[in-house]
Amino acid sequence: MAFDIVKIRPQVWRLWDAEKSSFYLVEGAEKAALIDTGITPGSQILPMLRSLTDKPIELILTHAHIDHFHHMDEFDTVYMSHEEFKLGEETLRYMMAGKDLDLAATRHITTGDVIDLGGCALEICDVPGHTPGSVAVYDGRDQIIFTGDAIGSGCGVWMQLPGSSSLRDYEKTLLRFMGWLLEKGGDMDFWGGHCDQSWGSRQVPGFNPLSMGLLADLIDLTRRVYRGEITGEFVEMDPQLRNREARYAAWGRAEMLFDPDNL
Ligand SMILES: [Zn+2]
Ligand SMILES: [Zn+2]
Repeated sequence: MAFDIVKIRPQVWRLWDAEKSSFYLVEGAEKAALIDTGITPGSQILPMLRSLTDKPIELILTHAHIDHFHHMDEFDTVYMSHEEFKLGEETLRYMMAGKDLDLAATRHITTGDVIDLGGCALEICDVPGHTPGSVAVYDGRDQIIFTGDAIGSGCGVWMQLPGSSSLRDYEKTLLRFMGWLLEKGGDMDFWGGHCDQSWGSRQVPGFNPLSMGLLADLIDLTRRVYRGEITGEFVEMDPQLRNREARYAAWGRAEMLFDPDNL
């Protein structure tokens, strides 16, 4: 299997798999952290990571979706917000795609937690909405915020899934998240969980990169949708994805799929 590997900082790699999932390796002086795992069925990702670093590698999961945690069984130390348990046994099982992943053995993370790699401290911020326990990871050394799927990733955020929050609650999340980023100076690169994804993006041709501006537009969009100013358009989804009714809405650079029964 081939991975697309790009060094985006002297000690940060963006990894991209055949299923179009992006995950990230950050190396410090003492250890390294992998942020998400992508999904490469029937194979392992650790040999590829070992070609990049010889430091012990701990895994940080942005959320418990199939394309982000599939390879967690290759790691001894795994961090994940235990708010993800609210997704329920049946959904979490479905997300494991036949694997038996031990989510109870993960270490809970929440806003304010710091994972120190030696000369590089990764800070956690809760960004619930897409899932109840979605988190973002801030690398202050490199001024990068890794957002998983919490604010979308090139094609808009998916808020129509089982376990996604109401849009009113999501607005509060986004305001808190923006405040948290501004406290850190507000000048960072955003890297999401599907960094080339352009499926369904209508606002910007091709890939729509994440940014502080997009986050601000997403706050406006969320408000306009729950106030009924934007009603969106029905989108036919693959039934395998177990979506509830999905509608597409956009404002500025921001896009989302949402469930009209969960505003
Ligand atoms: Zn994803
Ligand atoms: Zn997801």
